[in-house]
Amino acid sequence: MTDMRKQRFLFLGHQDLSGMLRGRSVPQERRKMALAQGLPWVPGNYSIGPTNIIPADNPFGQQGEIRLLPDQDAMLALPAHDGKPAFDVVLCSARLHDDAPWPYCPRTALKAAMDRLEEEAGLTMKVGFEHEFSVKGLNQIAHPAYSVASGRTISPLAGHVLQVLAKSGIRLEQFQAEYGTDQFEISSTPADPLAAADRVVLTQEAIRDGARLFGLHASFIPKPAPNAAGNGVHIHFSLYRKGQPVTAARDWLTDVSAPFVQGILDHVESIVPFTCLSANSYLRLRPNSWVGPYVCVGLRNREAMIRLVPRQPDGDGRHPQASLEFRASDGTANVYLALAALIGAGLDGLKRQKAPINVAKNPELLGGQERKRLGLRLLPQSLPEALNAFDAKVAASWLGAELVEAYLACRREDARQFCNMSDEEAATVLQRVY
Ligand code: GLU
Ligand code: MG
Repeated sequence: MTDMRKQRFLFLGHQDLSGMLRGRSVPQERRKMALAQGLPWVPGNYSIGPTNIIPADNPFGQQGEIRLLPDQDAMLALPAHDGKPAFDVVLCSARLHDDAPWPYCPRTALKAAMDRLEEEAGLTMKVGFEHEFSVKGLNQIAHPAYSVASGRTISPLAGHVLQVLAKSGIRLEQFQAEYGTDQFEISSTPADPLAAADRVVLTQEAIRDGARLFGLHASFIPKPAPNAAGNGVHIHFSLYRKGQPVTAARDWLTDVSAPFVQGILDHVESIVPFTCLSANSYLRLRPNSWVGPYVCVGLRNREAMIRLVPRQPDGDGRHPQASLEFRASDGTANVYLALAALIGAGLDGLKRQKAPINVAKNPELLGGQERKRLGLRLLPQSLPEALNAFDAKVAASWLGAELVEAYLACRREDARQFCNMSDEEAATVLQRVY
């Protein structure tokens, strides 16, 4: 009998239209072949939802076959542990058998958006993430927010995750105990959008796997319970022209970033169903929750949907380290589609050349009349509301009509299943998988 500890599996996977990593694995002796040629895969599997139900109106049916083609730059080596063999997870793009691109592949859609950003606007982007998550099973006696005690409680898991990621070339910037009970956060170092998105998927998987090894359960559920602190996955992005940062100058946006941000504000109803994928996501988008549910941008404002974080200015008043933090996003998202939608909307904004105002105060405290005067609207407060406000034509111009239609079928199925449950029941089901 083979000694399981010596076995090493290779898992070829992809983040599906419900933001879940799925795929299949091969044993060591098939590794070389799978890395070179990829593996066949079922198109309909892209639309399996969080409860393993394939939406009845999905466009794939039971037919067809695609290939999952691995990108060896996006690999995570999960070590052997406690009788479990080592498991190398590698992320894939999907292609048709004649090597033509498959129009439903989120990774391909993000690459296309990055290419458009460069070709149409001469811009590149760097992206970093703050991931908040909850850990079950710690049985802490007390959990003072941001304390040494809370940080120490999680440090064995954090240490393990940092080591596993570092071995796969993924570095993290920071790790902390967050505000909520048994809530933690890690931040990733900035990278180009595709590499950053790959790292989100792999980092989340490393945290989940690490937690399992310690007998814990880690979840990126946006709202573990209706009154609990929310788990956001904030997207920090910055823009570059010819390698030079053009995100901020003199404590505000530049003539490049201002219209880009305005495009996101104008189109946000067609972005949010990608950044806030689940029915549970919308419980988080409430005022006074440090989330930013009002559609605006604000300097250092954590109640604005986009926070400008200028960091240190240089001698000329520019902010080479500045980032824009999109806060209305969470860990259920398909991160490739979330980034591709943000880029698509930003590019539309660049064509229109309008600039946003700085909302530096908490919009909730401004009062209804002042919000009306400033034109501040609230993000959708439920998945059905979000789907009503979504403009499929606009999203199709960024991602392709086929992909958007397949994505909508999944969200309609989510609404059908989870909007007929109580919020508590839905949170219980969803935190097992997200
Ligand atoms: N937990 C908040 C959220 O749901 C964010 C808190 C923070 O500013 O880090 O997004
Ligand atoms: Mg945080």
